[in-house]
Amino acid sequence: MLFPFTQETETVSDRYDLVVIGAGIQGAGVAQAAAAAGYRTLVLEQTAIAAATSSQSSKLIHGGLRYLESAQFRLVREALRERALLIKLAPELVKLVPFYLPIFKQSRRKAWQLRVGLNLYRALGGFGPGTGFTTLDKSEWAGLDGLVTDDLVSVFRYYDGQTDDAVLTRAVMRSAESLGAELKMPAEFVGAKIAGDHCQVAYREGAAEHSCRCAVLVNCGGPWAARLLETIEPRQAPFDVELVQGSHLWLELEAPSGCYYLEAPSDGRGVFAIPWYGETLVGTTETVHHGPPEEARTLPAETEYLLKTLGHYFPRYRDVAPEQIKREYCGLRVLPKSGGSPFSRSREVIIHGDRTRAPRMVSVMGGKLTTYRLTAQKVMKMVEASLPAAETKGDTARLPLRGE
Ligand SMILES: Cc1cc2nc3c(=O)[nH]c(=O)nc-3n(C[C@H](O)[C@H](O)[C@H](O)COP(=O)(O)OP(=O)(O)OC[C@H]3O[C@@H](n4cnc5c(N)ncnc54)[C@H](O)[C@@H]3O)c2cc1C
Repeated sequence: MLFPFTQETETVSDRYDLVVIGAGIQGAGVAQAAAAAGYRTLVLEQTAIAAATSSQSSKLIHGGLRYLESAQFRLVREALRERALLIKLAPELVKLVPFYLPIFKQSRRKAWQLRVGLNLYRALGGFGPGTGFTTLDKSEWAGLDGLVTDDLVSVFRYYDGQTDDAVLTRAVMRSAESLGAELKMPAEFVGAKIAGDHCQVAYREGAAEHSCRCAVLVNCGGPWAARLLETIEPRQAPFDVELVQGSHLWLELEAPSGCYYLEAPSDGRGVFAIPWYGETLVGTTETVHHGPPEEARTLPAETEYLLKTLGHYFPRYRDVAPEQIKREYCGLRVLPKSGGSPFSRSREVIIHGDRTRAPRMVSVMGGKLTTYRLTAQKVMKMVEASLPAAETKGDTARLPLRGE
C-alpha cells in the first residue's frame, strides 16, 4: 500500500524529529538513543512492547562463541563489550551464568578447537570479568544434571549473560520515555511519504487515522521491516531478506544448574538447554519461513528435533510428555538472502537506507538483542545530518536500566 492519507485527513499535526516504527529491542534502543540526544521522538507499536522477536529469542546476552567458526570477529568483540556494559547498567536484568560445553568422541568440534575458540573469546572480551573458561575435572561430571558420560572426552565451562528479553526491552523503552520519547500503542504505521526535508507519516490507532511529520523515519519493524518498505513513497530500494524461524520449547522440567551448549546429533548445530524461571528452555532451530511473519508457528519436526537433542544428552529426559511442554514459541531471524545454510550466515545487523548526506529513512533488520545499544548509535550517526540541532540529555552508555 502506498501512502494512504492526504494532508486533508490529518487529525494530528504533531512534528517530531524521529518517528520509530516498532517497539522491539531495536526500536526501543533507537528511541532511547534519540531521546538521549535530545530529539523529539515518537514510537509507533502495533501490538505491545517486545511482542515479536524480542520476546522470542534465546534470552542470551552473549558474544556468540559460535560466530567465531564463521570468523565474525568484529561481531563477537562488539557483543562482548556490550555484554560487559549491560551487566554494569542493568545488574537486575542481565546476569552472568555458567555455560557447559561437553565434547564427546563423536562430536564434530574437537576439544582443541574449542580450547582455541574459548581463548579467542577471552581475548576478544579484553580478558575482562566473565571471559575466562575452565575444563571440568572428571570428578565434577556427576554434578552435570545427569549429562550422559559415555564417550565424554571433556567439558568446558565458560560464562555468558542471560536476561529476560521482554523485560529488558521494556526497561529500554521506559528509559526512552523517561527522556521524553512518546510511545503510541497500539498504533499501526501504514505508510509514509518522503518529501524533501521531511517525511509525512500515516498511522492508525484503532479506527482513527492520523498523520504526523518527522525529519527522519526509522523502520524497526523486525520481520515486517522489509515489507514496510513497500508502503513508502517514493518507493524505496527493496532489500532481499530471508526470514528464518527459530523455535524454543519451554519445558516443565527441573532447571539445569547452568546453560548447556549441545551439538545436535542429527546436523551438528548448536542447541541450548538453559534454566528459565525454575524450568528448562531448549532451542533453537533454523527453518526458512515463507509466509507472512504473523503466521510463523513451531513445526512438529522442530519440536521433535529439540526433544531428541535434549534426550540424547540427558537420558532422563528421553520421554518428555506433551503436557510437559509448557510453551512453544518461534521467532524470526531477518537474514540477508545470500544462499548457504542459515547457521553459517552473518548475524550482523542490517542498517539499510539511502546513504546520501541527509537520509530521511533508515531500516534496521536482524542483529542481536545484545548489541541493540550499539546498533542505535550507528543509526543515530547515519541520520545526524538530517536532524536539527538538539541539546543532549544523556549518554546511553551510562544510563542505568531497571527491572520491573
Ligand atoms: C530464534 C532467535 C533467537 C535469538 N536469540 C538471541 C539471543 O539469545 N541473544 C541475542 O543477542 N539475540 C538473539 N536473537 C536476535 C534478537 O532477538 C533480534 O535481533 C531482535 O529481537 C530483533 O528486534 P527487532 O526490534 O528488530 O524486532 P522485533 O522484536 O520483531 O520488533 C519489531 C516490532 O515492530 C512492530 N511492527 C511491525 N510492523 C509494524 C507496523 N506497521 N506498525 C507498528 N509496529 C509495527 C512489531 O509489532 C514488533 O513489536 C535471536 C533471534 C531469534 C529469531
